[in-house]
Amino acid sequence: MNSELSSYHFQPVAVVRSCFKTKFGIPRQPGLISEARGSIELLPPYNQPNAVRGLEDFSHIWVLFVFHDALREGWKATVRPPRLGGDKRVGVFASRSPFRPCPIGLSVLTLRDVRIGDHGKIALAVEGLDLLDGTPVLDIKPYLPYTDAVSDARAGFAPVAPASAALPVQFSDQAAQQAAAIEKRGLDGFRLLAEKVIAADPRPAYQREAGRVYGIFLHGYEVVWQAGADSAVVTHITRDAT
Ligand code: SAM
Repeated sequence: MNSELSSYHFQPVAVVRSCFKTKFGIPRQPGLISEARGSIELLPPYNQPNAVRGLEDFSHIWVLFVFHDALREGWKATVRPPRLGGDKRVGVFASRSPFRPCPIGLSVLTLRDVRIGDHGKIALAVEGLDLLDGTPVLDIKPYLPYTDAVSDARAGFAPVAPASAALPVQFSDQAAQQAAAIEKRGLDGFRLLAEKVIAADPRPAYQREAGRVYGIFLHGYEVVWQAGADSAVVTHITRDAT
């Protein structure tokens, strides 16, 4: 086979530690929820301070990763983007679907800190995640606004950000107390994170009947909520026992 068309084997350079422990509820793109925090931990032999020298001078990074939790499903030539209500099809290469021939994703994340610890621990503190906990990272690059931000770009079926307040959210007294206790234990912004994740209405288009109960797994907790006709109530929050 022509060498330009051979296959390639890449090893992850890092792993994502994300507040999102399951796929349900993860924002559909990065930067939509700033409280969605986590870190990118470099793996050996890439966990060298020299490998990240100068990165702290950038406010944002590109993260290229593997959609590792979508590998089983394979890919199809067309997909149904949630943005189009889940019933219209576009080509896989006209979409940001996780189900692709080469299941590689890319996200721009806010870089808050480059932490160099003992025993080769190097972690990039990031915000605005749209990634599942444990996502393998293939590469990290600085975001360069002069070339990466295109001010007059056309954006097909997704010209603007999705509605961030599609589903107004209330907390029961019990859930409000539980969220406050979790924040007191050091998880700053936990309530706002839960609120924004639910307000974006993560339910699939075919599953929107009122009364249904959902659980979203954030950090080590399950946030349990019930959908009403056009709002949601967080009923309680439990420790994630899985
Ligand atoms: N920003 C990336 C891109 O454009 O390539 C990801 C966009 S994709 C539409 C975002 C969705 O991928 C999330 O809402 C979540 O459901 C899913 N996802 C995130 N991390 C994943 C992983 N490691 N494996 C499979 N699916 C993942």
